[in-house]
Amino acid sequence: MSGGIQLTSPLDEVGGIRIDRKLREGLEKLGLKTVRDALLHFPRRHEDRTRFDRFPEGAMETPVCLHVTVSDCRTSFGRGRSTRVFEATVDPVGGDLLGNRIVLRWFNLAFLAKVLAVGHELVIYGQPKESGRRVVIDHPEYEIVEGGAGGAAPHMGGIVPIYPLASGVGQRALRSLIHTVLQEVNDEVLAETFCGTLDRAAGRCAAIRSLHYPVRFEALDEARRVLALEEFALLQLELLRRREALQARGGVPHCGPGKLLAAFLESLPFAPTGAQSRVIAELREDLAAARPMVRMLQGDVGSGKTLVAAAAILLAVESGCDAALMAPTQILAEQHFTTFRRWFDPLGVGVRLLTGSRDEGGDLPLFSGAGGKAGTLTIGTHALIHKRAGFDRGLGLVVIDEQHKFGVEQREKLIGKGEAVDVLVMTATPIPRTLTLAVYGDLDVSILDELPPGRGKLITGLRSTAQTDQATDFLRQQLEAGRQAYVVYPLIDESEKVAAGAATAAFEEWRRRLPDRKVGLLHGRMSGEEKEAVMNEFRGGRTEVLVATTVIEVGVDVPNANLMLIYHAERFGLAQLHQLRGRIGRGEHKSYCVLLVDPTQPGAGERLRILEETRDGFRIAEEDLRQRGPGEVLGTQQSGLPDLRFADLLGDTLLVLEARELAAELLATGFTSATTS
Ligand code: ADP
Ligand code: MG
Repeated sequence: MSGGIQLTSPLDEVGGIRIDRKLREGLEKLGLKTVRDALLHFPRRHEDRTRFDRFPEGAMETPVCLHVTVSDCRTSFGRGRSTRVFEATVDPVGGDLLGNRIVLRWFNLAFLAKVLAVGHELVIYGQPKESGRRVVIDHPEYEIVEGGAGGAAPHMGGIVPIYPLASGVGQRALRSLIHTVLQEVNDEVLAETFCGTLDRAAGRCAAIRSLHYPVRFEALDEARRVLALEEFALLQLELLRRREALQARGGVPHCGPGKLLAAFLESLPFAPTGAQSRVIAELREDLAAARPMVRMLQGDVGSGKTLVAAAAILLAVESGCDAALMAPTQILAEQHFTTFRRWFDPLGVGVRLLTGSRDEGGDLPLFSGAGGKAGTLTIGTHALIHKRAGFDRGLGLVVIDEQHKFGVEQREKLIGKGEAVDVLVMTATPIPRTLTLAVYGDLDVSILDELPPGRGKLITGLRSTAQTDQATDFLRQQLEAGRQAYVVYPLIDESEKVAAGAATAAFEEWRRRLPDRKVGLLHGRMSGEEKEAVMNEFRGGRTEVLVATTVIEVGVDVPNANLMLIYHAERFGLAQLHQLRGRIGRGEHKSYCVLLVDPTQPGAGERLRILEETRDGFRIAEEDLRQRGPGEVLGTQQSGLPDLRFADLLGDTLLVLEARELAAELLATGFTSATTS
């Protein structure tokens, strides 16, 4: 048995498979080299070749699959003689009582005249329509079949797979190849194909075979569910293991008595929202417990996550340890630095800034307050991980803002800077619960589901980039009323360099358009100091209009800014636009977000309509997930999310819960040590 083919065997080592050069090139295009590759090359659809569709007598709403004989072939020229048309007239195999025929039609595929001939038996798949008095199918999928209606597997006589192809690989050749692999591979090997770690091999083998050659169509979905469940379960196992590893480091309570927190809340000009108070209580419990905290805070833009973070930090430093707050951009780190200095200075809690370009506050004798016993807070960017951060009193709490901008590894590195660190990660992309479980199942979750009161209305409208003059007039009105505005240009080609160029050009234009107004420019290619200088001018109201790339996307908080023009909004994802517009509507003023869409791309803005309708981050995130998929929205890498072949993160919500139970059971039975892959 062991002499048989293995998953890693090259395809031409499988008995009965011949691969010539052309086929090899085609297979390479499809990424098919080994037995495993072939087994995992799943069909894009199936045809039931025991029961073909009824021969159409007119146009049909859906494609049909027919078994036909070619009765006539001809090549002609289309209008203007620039197109060549190849037509094959076909009858149902065995003839048709009423003499029905249809015409298969291909444009500019002259070689078909050499491939198809009168008398050929075909299986075709395509959409019938009416053309004049004929019924035609343009560019049908076709396959020449032999041996009459009684033709046998793998091409006839059952439910037959239709595989994705590449040039050089025909449907029949590929089907024969994969069919041979399926016959030659034994179940033991097959079971290892995928998720080889769970003890559910039998079901998995049947499922893989079924996905290629299902007995019934219903078996397809069952098979997919079996494999999806395994995929989810493995993902959950990984997450639970990660969680166990974090917990296993042992924990230390990091929670002071709360005097600093009380003084802090007292000093604020507003009361925390109900949601903020609830979450602060949750964090307090976590911090006080001996097990390490591993918690995610989800809260829509503007829901006040910073305040919640401050509360946790005060409780922690009061207990005598140091805390760190990591932000994804220099601008945001600087802003947090300013905010926390304002909040913490009066309490005598030291705050230090550590970014690529600055290390400030570290040497200041700030630690005398709070009886000199409290730890300090270090705020920074990635530099926190790389520079020697020096947490004198031991790092006890790590807060990661806008966590989706960081990778799992970065998170873990920062956590590794202390022992038994409590961790709070914060994110402004709220996602549905089951998805949270699927992707962040290693974390406890708290949700800020309430915006602070007194927020001005935020109105969002879709317009065309051709309406820049009107937009300028509107912008002027807002400036005259004393407000400020953002004008945002997207990353083009994913390159900050190009975006910086576009923003710089736009900046010159806006300066010309508004000669009497103070216009600033902000982009990612500026140095940290330059950025901070620009932001300070804007925060202080000395700059009235800020032309920027999406560097302002996260966290920036300037309540007096109430207008945002976003150019080429069609190039952004919904969640990102929601984030961007979260920069406005932060003060008591009515705010306006204008999404300017390229008019040369008709319909490009349609998918953005939901932003006009709602400000609910959950709804927007769900729609964004539907439009772009979880990988895009959550950042596959960032979330440590593996490629899922079968599992549908949006559709299979119940499976996620099932998988989680399965994974917990496996873990409880000591499964951890058995798997290392
Ligand atoms: P985000 O959750 O997007 O990070 P921030 O923490 O930046 O939101 O808070 C947004 C704004 O709301 C800030 O100006 C902050 O001072 C203010 N804010 C936070 N909590 C409250 C509250 N309970 N009442 C009024 N304003 C608040
Ligand atoms: Mg924030």
